[in-house]
Amino acid sequence: MKSLLERDRERVWHPYTQAGFGQVPLPVSSAKGSELILEDGRSILDGLSSWWCCLHGHGDARLSKAATTQFETLDHVLFAGVTHEPAVALAERLCSVAPHHFERVFYSDNGSTAIEVALKLSVQLARNRGERKTTIVALEGGYHGDTFGAMAVGARSIFSAPFDELLFSVEYLSIDGTEADIQRCEDLCKRGDVACFIFEPLVQGAGGMRFVDAKVMDRYCQIFQRYGALCIADEVMTGFGRTGGLFASSELTAAPDLLCLSKGITSGTLPLAVTLCRDSLYREFISSDHSRTFFHGHTYTANPIACAIALASLDITVSDECVAQRLRIERAHRACAELLLRYSRVQSPRVKGTILALDLVSDGLKGYRSGIAQQAREFFIERGVLLRPLGDVLYFMPPYCFSDVELARVHAAIEEFVGQL
Ligand code: PMP
Repeated sequence: MKSLLERDRERVWHPYTQAGFGQVPLPVSSAKGSELILEDGRSILDGLSSWWCCLHGHGDARLSKAATTQFETLDHVLFAGVTHEPAVALAERLCSVAPHHFERVFYSDNGSTAIEVALKLSVQLARNRGERKTTIVALEGGYHGDTFGAMAVGARSIFSAPFDELLFSVEYLSIDGTEADIQRCEDLCKRGDVACFIFEPLVQGAGGMRFVDAKVMDRYCQIFQRYGALCIADEVMTGFGRTGGLFASSELTAAPDLLCLSKGITSGTLPLAVTLCRDSLYREFISSDHSRTFFHGHTYTANPIACAIALASLDITVSDECVAQRLRIERAHRACAELLLRYSRVQSPRVKGTILALDLVSDGLKGYRSGIAQQAREFFIERGVLLRPLGDVLYFMPPYCFSDVELARVHAAIEEFVGQL
């Protein structure tokens, strides 16, 4: 009998993985709460919430019950020309908790598609108005997904390099928001062809856990909106409590026109995404003219089981208990960040809500080509923790159910790692 790893090596192609580097995938056989259980019985703490989505820990009984009940009632049905209770109830619920007054929900099935929807809506809205607006502005260093449109609005990098010539061009604004940046923003708008501005509020995730000043985003958004360009808040990573409050955009004064959510929406159980807008925008697509229709949809759009889980997950996320969990994590992160200031190999230790991040100073290559990520991964796995640095940016983003003991274990391992560099 071949082992799981042998069968994997023969048949499976893993994301973001250069097989030539010989990294062996972790064979996970089960998971519960904060822990992943490996085939050999070892338990590993899930320090990155399984790609930032598993908010309430693995195998949560409340989510399992919601999924089972929904499965037995209605498992799946297409969403064009059909509706169902979980999708409507979730749309109502999301509009009631989202910041800045959103009234309509367009469903899709992952972060990248939520972004594609927002970009396409912005461009088609202009067309429906009889305007020609095809310029898209993004924030430097951003990441919005791996499909072509989402890639185009992200930073050009080693990830996008093979496709750069095929990506539509985008204007970028710096996250600094200097007076020169503000002027550039005005100048871009004066061209009269900007359809939208896309940004990750408060934290740029995959771009290196870079923190973004809400006031800078406010200034940019106010300018774009004055000129009739839509502002798209990509909260695929930040949504559902990750940055402390329920949504990062709550800290903005300016109200985004479109809000993209995914990842934590089902607490890491099933794929689901939404793009929220106001009713006034939706109404501009209503017509007796078919060409004004938004022709976009995905097979698993508004999957009933995913929607039912999302409703149950949201109940947990807004509960006092979960708010307290997030505060507790933030406090522990802050104490750790304070200690990390002492280490010469650590730069800019930083905390935003449940995210702890720091830049690792190494002598070799920088960014994604730095070998430090692999070194760190192995070091932490030996200590029973799964962390996966973004190049030379080490971060810890636990599920909200992490206990104090578990938090302390990971914080101590991080200190040990930076101490021996
Ligand atoms: N936007 C942001 C801010 C993200 O962090 C990600 C995923 N890391 C995406 C979009 C894309 O989401 P997905 O991987 O589900 O396509």
